[in-house]
Amino acid sequence: MTYESVIGLEVHAQLLTESKIFCGCSTRFGAAPNQHTCPVCLGLPGVLPVLNKKVVDFALRAALATHCTITTTSRWARKNYFYPDLPKGYQISMYELPLAEHGYVEVTAEEQAKKVRLTRIHMEEDAGKSIHDAEAGASLVDLNRTGVPLLEIVSEPDIRSAAEAGSYLRSLRALLQYIEVCDGNMEEGSLRCDANVSIRPRGSTEFGTRTETKNLNSFRAVEKAIEHEIQRQTEVVEAGGRVVQETRLWDADREVTRPMRSKEFAHDYRYFPDPDLLPLVVDQAWVEHVRTDLPELPAARRARFVHDYDLPAYDAEVLTARKDVADYFEASLRACPAAPKVVSNWVMDSVLRFVKEEKLDAALKIETWPCPPERLGALIGLIQNGTISTTIAKTVYEDMRRTGHSPEEIIESKGLRQVSDTDTLQAAIAEVLTANPDKVEAYRGGKEKLLGFFVGQVMRATQGKANPQMVNTLLRQKLSQ
Ligand code: ADP
Ligand code: MG
Ligand code: ZN
Repeated sequence: MTYESVIGLEVHAQLLTESKIFCGCSTRFGAAPNQHTCPVCLGLPGVLPVLNKKVVDFALRAALATHCTITTTSRWARKNYFYPDLPKGYQISMYELPLAEHGYVEVTAEEQAKKVRLTRIHMEEDAGKSIHDAEAGASLVDLNRTGVPLLEIVSEPDIRSAAEAGSYLRSLRALLQYIEVCDGNMEEGSLRCDANVSIRPRGSTEFGTRTETKNLNSFRAVEKAIEHEIQRQTEVVEAGGRVVQETRLWDADREVTRPMRSKEFAHDYRYFPDPDLLPLVVDQAWVEHVRTDLPELPAARRARFVHDYDLPAYDAEVLTARKDVADYFEASLRACPAAPKVVSNWVMDSVLRFVKEEKLDAALKIETWPCPPERLGALIGLIQNGTISTTIAKTVYEDMRRTGHSPEEIIESKGLRQVSDTDTLQAAIAEVLTANPDKVEAYRGGKEKLLGFFVGQVMRATQGKANPQMVNTLLRQKLSQ
């Protein structure tokens, strides 16, 4: 019997608002513990929450970018549970009437386009943080994060493999970054994911019993945990057992999932409408206002790159996978508009390789990149007009990254200008030929492959600065004389 895996993801995205969802406290990351708190987010008695309109704007952006239907009147609900990092004893969330439903995210998996449907998107407040390892014999609580706005984005069980889950998460993250509502940083916890996994006999139309795995704080963890869970469930079923519905935790060190709580201990959250908050009414005018404010989304940008710049679909896909990369590409191109494919090669090769090596993840501002895009464009312009060769350009690029100097400065100070002067090249060629009489004879005797050798020698003699096309032409002429 072969099995098919069925996966649904619940994603929590921290919204990039300046202040919290129901009070004016700052959301900034990294402050000393409990600095960003007030009576509202500390859950003191006698205070009332006031909704931050920006949170709704951001949630609407996400809902529209994922093709959701917006609920005109949605409702805040209290999700009740006890935990030391939840001072009110409940989390304000949405339950029966979420802000948005029935959307989808476009995903490419195994070269196939596919829509993963979204069940719902709603807003909620984050809880605080318990710290168990800072002080012996004590647990500490930091409430800076309490009340930070989150979006919960729940997918339908449409995903069929660990790799597809990874693609879905990457597409979703790219979308959230494009619309600038979340920085998408999984390591810092601003994008969190729980994976619901079940298996069923291939061909079956019913779903199997699922487990929910938490504590997945990287793309790798999501994919590994799902793979592990599929494997584990398959082994259980093949040994004649049954999968137990439970919450499991991913242990990143040992690369296994472990049970956390089973259904008997499942939470009963006793949801009810929050009497402190009015229903949220989002009228058509508000929705339209947000819609006109949306930037170009990845799919549209990809199509435009192919159409306007004549780029291969692959290039367009890679370049638009991140908004900052696509912005970088277009800013470079403005400095060198005639050569989109060359600019694309440089961004995909040099720039993305650097981003990868340095693990420059997510919310990066172009200004902090190793080489400003205008400079890269200028450098490519200098290749295009014959000032330097591509090989020299690679070393100039490394220098630009290191020193922050302009390509022109580096080329002048190091004397890297390409030599296209016929007399100088003729002289270098003459020297190389005189030094290698036997090879010249062999070439003339029919060993034409030796041309590469001569070109190499001339390039070496000119420290790589000779114009390669001209060297080729002049060499051929000289050797056929
Ligand atoms: P809960 O509140 O218990 O987490 P939800 O209704 O919010 O339940 O569902 C959570 C997620 O579980 C959704 O992403 C959904 O697609 C997924 N899911 C539901 N049933 C299954 C299943 N049989 N196998 C895998 N995923 C499932
Ligand atoms: Mg859930
Ligand atoms: Zn506060």
